[in-house]
Amino acid sequence: MKAARLEDGKLLIRDDPMPTPGFEEALVKISAAGVCHSDLHLARGDWLGAQNLTSGIGHEAIGIVTALGPGADRFAQVGDRVILGLGGTGGGYWCGACEYCLSGQPRHCKESKGILGTFCEYFPVYARSLVKIPESIGDHEAPLACGGLTAYGAVKKLSKHHVLPGRKVAVIGAAGGLGHYAVQIATAFGYDVVGVDVGPERLAFVESLGASRAVGADRAAEVVQKEFGGVDASLVFSASMAGFKLGFALLKRAGLFVAVGLPPTREGNIELNPFEFFLKDPTIIYSAVGTVQDMRELVDLAAAGRVRSHVSRRGPLSDLPAIFDELAAAKYLGRAVIDELGR
Ligand SMILES: [Zn+2]
Ligand SMILES: [Zn+2]
Repeated sequence: MKAARLEDGKLLIRDDPMPTPGFEEALVKISAAGVCHSDLHLARGDWLGAQNLTSGIGHEAIGIVTALGPGADRFAQVGDRVILGLGGTGGGYWCGACEYCLSGQPRHCKESKGILGTFCEYFPVYARSLVKIPESIGDHEAPLACGGLTAYGAVKKLSKHHVLPGRKVAVIGAAGGLGHYAVQIATAFGYDVVGVDVGPERLAFVESLGASRAVGADRAAEVVQKEFGGVDASLVFSASMAGFKLGFALLKRAGLFVAVGLPPTREGNIELNPFEFFLKDPTIIYSAVGTVQDMRELVDLAAAGRVRSHVSRRGPLSDLPAIFDELAAAKYLGRAVIDELGR
């Protein structure tokens, strides 16, 4: 079968042997796989400790279960149409019994394993992490598995930190692969969304997604502070330190800062002046991916037509290197999907 892999950090597309599903695993024939910014970061060695990798790549997909390993029939059946990936981190295995698993944070489970390698024809996956999808959700919705789920997890944390529906929240990087979901999800939850991005085309797109206001990054700090006195929460999807700085600049006092984007390590650290910290008193959290329950809830929202993936680039597996270049240069809006894995 065809598969894209990283070998010592180099992206190769090659013929691999057909995998067999292990204990509690299902084998999924991939119909479509989304291209996430994290895949690009991994392929380019942008993150400390994740350089020159040898591994599979890709972590958001939709497919059909074609075989089951021992014990998997409790969680999936042959013929199930499923979404898989769970945002990569944690979707490969979790123990289900430790303090983190039982408190709804399986990502921190000591035994947790990620999912990497959905850019291939057949992928074996921990069957417990699969979520069945209805026919009304097309194959091009594969990016819901990471982009959508990550946005959903971040928006869901707002109310946990006392930012309730009706309040003003900023989405930084609102036209991007994750941000465009966050605008739709936060709007569906009843938040008043200020979308921040760059350029007229991207800002028009943000407004079309339901944001009550779309503002250019260069003017956002001034406009938001002047007109609203700041936002209750900033959701930062931008994978750049400039986006992080802007997230802090938009917050009102005692606001909630939710980091989601993961800038390259070479961009350095978040700087926080202690006196400003004292004055502004923000709550700062990181939100990574989501759980299998979050995925089920998001699938329900998508089935109800409240959230859609905006896919503006499609291609066969052999296009993956070109798609990475286009993603790095922000050449398309929303998300890209590989919809022919065998070519
Ligand atoms: Zn655990
Ligand atoms: Zn991802």
